[in-house]
Amino acid sequence: MRGQYEELSCPFCDKGKITCLFIRGGYSFKKAMAAHTSKNIPVKSSDTWLIQTGCSFCGKSKEQVEKKLKETEII
Ligand SMILES: [Zn+2]
Repeated sequence: MRGQYEELSCPFCDKGKITCLFIRGGYSFKKAMAAHTSKNIPVKSSDTWLIQTGCSFCGKSKEQVEKKLKETEII
């Protein structure tokens, strides 16, 4: 499984560290249809963040952290 662990700052207290599994969106290529170019156009699927832990500093659960991170468009 692709993915790497990343640490995000807690969106509530900004002091705790939230461990996330970050899965990069895949690229697929489709041929450009225009006659004057033979370029392949990369089509990107979106990245996925899986929250692994809550905040040990302020005690927010991982569900609360995930909701807040999505609300603030960090993930
Ligand atoms: Zn926190």
